[in-house]
Amino acid sequence: SVALMWFRADLRLHDHPALRAAVAAGSDGVVPLFVLDDHFDLDALAVRGAHLARLLADFDDRIGGLHVVRGRPEVEVPRIVRETGADSVHVTAGHTPYAMRRDAKVAEALDVPLVASGSGYAVAPGTVRKGDGTGYKVFTPWFRAWQGHGAERPLRPVDPTTVPWVRPGASAPLPSTDAPDGVDLPAAGEVAALEHWRAWLGDHVDDYAEERDRPDLDTTSRMSVHLKWGTVHPRTLLADLAQRSSDGARAYERQLAFREFYADILHERPDSAYGYYHRAYERMQYDEPAGDFEAWKQGRTGFPFIDAGMRQLLAQGWMHNRLRMAVASFLVKDLHLEWTHGARWFLERLVDADLANNQHGWQWVAGCGTDAAPYFRVFNPVGQGRRLDPDGTYIRRWVPELRGVEGPKVHEPWTLDDPPADYPPPLVDHAQERLEALRRHDAM
Ligand code: FAD
Repeated sequence: SVALMWFRADLRLHDHPALRAAVAAGSDGVVPLFVLDDHFDLDALAVRGAHLARLLADFDDRIGGLHVVRGRPEVEVPRIVRETGADSVHVTAGHTPYAMRRDAKVAEALDVPLVASGSGYAVAPGTVRKGDGTGYKVFTPWFRAWQGHGAERPLRPVDPTTVPWVRPGASAPLPSTDAPDGVDLPAAGEVAALEHWRAWLGDHVDDYAEERDRPDLDTTSRMSVHLKWGTVHPRTLLADLAQRSSDGARAYERQLAFREFYADILHERPDSAYGYYHRAYERMQYDEPAGDFEAWKQGRTGFPFIDAGMRQLLAQGWMHNRLRMAVASFLVKDLHLEWTHGARWFLERLVDADLANNQHGWQWVAGCGTDAAPYFRVFNPVGQGRRLDPDGTYIRRWVPELRGVEGPKVHEPWTLDDPPADYPPPLVDHAQERLEALRRHDAM
């Protein structure tokens, strides 16, 4: 029989339950398919589009030909099934609201089974539940239950040279691999992901607990992009971490668990992808995005730590976690804009853009998410910089106008006798805006 393997965010050969199921079912042939889904406007999402194009080219090379088509999955997948005579379609389960809608439509349009095996998580969203069957709302008890659940062992890789691949004709052209504005993208693909992971594990994991909050050291794993695109499975990472006894390894497991927690929350509350998790916050008074929003996007707020983060995002499609928190707080509590505006910009520019992590990361900062940081805890854009980037190394790396400023003054260039002429003055008075944010919160 012939099996169709419909790849999505899982272009890898190792630890891949769905691919193994397809190979087991397709003794006469396995069709390796990728659908460039019309739902995603890859011209608008150019950073992600370029990374995806690189991933597709890499995987095409690894298996000696991936069949790529463009269109709507509920039309294209049944068409390829008819053309190849496939008896089953295999996928890794998707868990975003869109992925679930899409897969339901495809299953309905098919007259062969759509078989979902595995997920992009160690424990699939929707699995960790309280005794009464409902979902958790707070991380710590969820984390204990998740740990108790335990992850399975990674599966052995599939050897692509032993698979009877079948390709139905010519592929559609791939999107451009050129990143917009010369964004410096990370290496794409499974081989790069595993090499990067092993090197990081050897060099940094044991210091992760102490160093993870320091953007100047830049020693976090940068595995988010590989996890987002499924070129590595978290089970693989957890199995490696289990071999180590350091605090760093435990701290890293906990961060991986946050990713699983947010996916679980989104699964339980699909409306929280674009709406408020705590709905009361819909009623707060917000401003409309205008010139301030543009200054924030371009890293020209006049707050060096904030601007460094926003410029790293423009340059690399990635930002350190502490910066994501600081710039998000600035948007919501200094500029008084709704979190959704900032979250949308992140989704457009991040190469690791992940709906669950991003929307819930934003809502956590905005005070309207799970485990919400109390609203009155407003990040101080200068204090954060002084604490997390004590020498200003991170700021000087990303804000060239301030490279000539020595010492801690780099955190407050407006206090210099002669501030750099090409760097803007602070957009707002933080102390005042903090009070304004609290006033609006109280009024709500
Ligand atoms: P490491 O510190 O090396 O962490 C290892 C892995 O753990 C990460 O790759 C990630 O998968 C997971 N992780 C770490 N911290 C978090 C966290 N706070 N929440 C969820 N998972 C976490 N992460 C994304 O993957 N995509 C996003 O679009 C995204 N948007 C965010 C937006 C905001 C406002 C905030 C506050 C956080 C966001 N995060 C997002 C979470 C976090 O910032 C990134 O996962 C992390 O910075 C990625 O870098 P790293 O791989 O070097 O992280």
